[in-house]
Amino acid sequence: MRILIKDVTALLPKDGGFEAKKCDIFVSGDTVEKIGDCGELKADKVINGEGKLASAGLVNAHTHSYMSLFRNSADDLMFHDWLFGRIMPMEDKLTKEDMYWGAMLACLEMIKTGTTAFLDMNICRGAITEAISKSGLKAVISRGLVGNGRNDESGLERINDTLYDYRTYNKFPRLKFAMGPHAIYTTDRAYLELVMEKAAEYEMPINIHLSESVKEVEDCYKEHGCSPVEYLDEMGMFKFHTVAAHCVQLSDNDIKILAERGVYAASNPISNAKLGNGFARIPDMMKAGVKTAIGTDSAGSNNTLNMFSDMMFMALCHKGNTRTADAVTAQEILKMATQTGAEALGLENTGVLKEGARADIIIMDMNTPSFQPLNDPTAAMCYSANGSEVETVMVDGELLMENRVIPHLDEERIYFECNKAMKRIDS
Ligand SMILES: [Zn+2]
Repeated sequence: MRILIKDVTALLPKDGGFEAKKCDIFVSGDTVEKIGDCGELKADKVINGEGKLASAGLVNAHTHSYMSLFRNSADDLMFHDWLFGRIMPMEDKLTKEDMYWGAMLACLEMIKTGTTAFLDMNICRGAITEAISKSGLKAVISRGLVGNGRNDESGLERINDTLYDYRTYNKFPRLKFAMGPHAIYTTDRAYLELVMEKAAEYEMPINIHLSESVKEVEDCYKEHGCSPVEYLDEMGMFKFHTVAAHCVQLSDNDIKILAERGVYAASNPISNAKLGNGFARIPDMMKAGVKTAIGTDSAGSNNTLNMFSDMMFMALCHKGNTRTADAVTAQEILKMATQTGAEALGLENTGVLKEGARADIIIMDMNTPSFQPLNDPTAAMCYSANGSEVETVMVDGELLMENRVIPHLDEERIYFECNKAMKRIDS
């Protein structure tokens, strides 16, 4: 299908940032074929872009889609009480069907708020990947791996879940798979080494939670005599393409290691603040060259998967925390939420709105109070928009949402099934 977006204001890459330019965008198949005056090109469909803003789709670099079920059900708890006291007991009651609908709710929310790709960590084989495959979104999917030793039966079963999904859903070109060791406090060294062997065998990247809380770091010093980053580095994990979620509690040496090894840090500023874990050292990490992307974490701790909220909070919390107004700029935030996120997920030619790139595009309505007057659209995306302005979402040239209608997802059914599941789980 050839789609022409006519007379749209587009956020195009310029000098490492973005510039807003009035133009046409011509999409052919899954690719942006031309940006500029496309009046002479024949399209199957024309979208009137007058008064609209086009941007590369947002990339959510860390979430747990099924946990959208737990939205507004585990609040005002410190991280360890939240995880071990509240979330894990609820997870024990989840059926595969519950997880399917939770993941559906996540995909629905992400499409509605302009996310076109995400990195997921989940807890079962089949059901969650099935839901994501139906959404049309791009995703890198990892089964959360917990285990001790090379012969831990449940640990091995979790690795097999990863491989099952990889084999079953490999035919979906928008889905990729990663090894997802949960964290250093839910795995031991022998198990992590086994996970790395599997990652090498199947050429998979690694997705892990890292240095999220002070307790994780203190326990690591007690047990291993070094920081979590040093522990994994010494083990050789960072030879793999690694996305490390959180990276809140980092030493200067940790930052240096992450920069030198090219590890992607997926920062989840709202989740980190809400669970009392603190603020990552993002300005220091950026200065040192750590590649930083933005994640929402799950709706169990955020409580949304709306990237607009995290983009704004990411900018504001570091400005406030460092008492420096340009600690993180709107231009830097948008780049983290698009280009760097896509790189973190290993998506080629994605995350930038340019000729020859994959057509993952969102179109926002600028005739809304949050965009008016039409001053700086990049600032609007970071500081004043809230995601409700997103009208149309395209992934690989396929329209997933048009004028806020998502024809292939049954919204009412998703809400019904999620409410039904939570009534049972939380009773
Ligand atoms: Zn997480």
